[in-house]
Amino acid sequence: MKVLFTGIQPTGLLHIGNYFGAIRNWVDIQHDYTSYICIVDYHAITILYESEEMKKNIFEMALGLYACGIDIERTTLFIQSEVPGHAELTWIFNTVTPLGDLERMTQFKDKAKQNRANVNVGLLDYPVLQAADILVYKGEVVPVGEDQVQHIEFARDVARRFNVRYGNTFPECEALLTSTPRILGLDGDSKMSKSKGNYITLFESKEEIWRKVSIAKTDPARMRRSDAGTPEKCNIYSMHILVTPDKRLEEIATGCRTAGIGCIDCKRIFLDNLMKALDPIQERYKELSNQRERVREALDNNAAHCRKVAGETIIEVKRNMGLTPVWKI
Ligand code: SF4
Repeated sequence: MKVLFTGIQPTGLLHIGNYFGAIRNWVDIQHDYTSYICIVDYHAITILYESEEMKKNIFEMALGLYACGIDIERTTLFIQSEVPGHAELTWIFNTVTPLGDLERMTQFKDKAKQNRANVNVGLLDYPVLQAADILVYKGEVVPVGEDQVQHIEFARDVARRFNVRYGNTFPECEALLTSTPRILGLDGDSKMSKSKGNYITLFESKEEIWRKVSIAKTDPARMRRSDAGTPEKCNIYSMHILVTPDKRLEEIATGCRTAGIGCIDCKRIFLDNLMKALDPIQERYKELSNQRERVREALDNNAAHCRKVAGETIIEVKRNMGLTPVWKI
């Protein structure tokens, strides 16, 4: 089986954008590959954070991912900082990476703008660590959204450059694009994200979600109940697509265009369908919250496995680079 690698930052909450935009796909394909799913805490420390909160968030992320359906028995879910090979390979890759390539990365430019007070080297080096994350397991397939494609191409370049200089060592990984449409947040203006505060988490109660959804923006042109709307311009509709069956979705779109359905009724249908998807996740989350030791044990075992696999890659890399002392060859 091909090796799949993907990562997620320990943000402290999983929102429906994370789930429908990425995690649901990981759950669906995890058994088709040798799957590594990494909680990328080393990436998360490139911006300012609270250490107590980080500790909590890392575990919560693991709990959340298992609740979403990541297979605790078969998929290797682990914490990045538990495996030294990631940082070691990053340093090695730094030496085959032109500075200009990093400075050109769109995400670096965006993050540097957002974090003017803390434009650290880690922020610039982020794609090199990402390449090391994937390649230390000889990852071949990386499920990502459109915004990450540039980073996967970067990882391919790193692998190619290393292979040319030191001999064939790494595969050229490929992006596996998820076809989920862009999920807008409750503000209707931008992608759902923690930093924008425009999200619905996976673990909120129906009542809490309704409090948010009932006041969420809709198509801005639909001021009155009698105004016809354009579903494609409505964030609620962008979320309906994720959870509402096709036939019902068509009825809603027609109802919106003809003012046959009001926004409150439309939102209630969305809420009911969303809860059908979230109920089993919330149920599993409750169960796993009572089995914290089992989760901890799985993370420990997975980290040990990763250290072994990554360690073997590092030995091969060092041998190819002439870094292994001659008496050990
Ligand atoms: S009816 Fe539904 S899709 Fe149309 S504007 Fe209102 S909330 Fe959006």
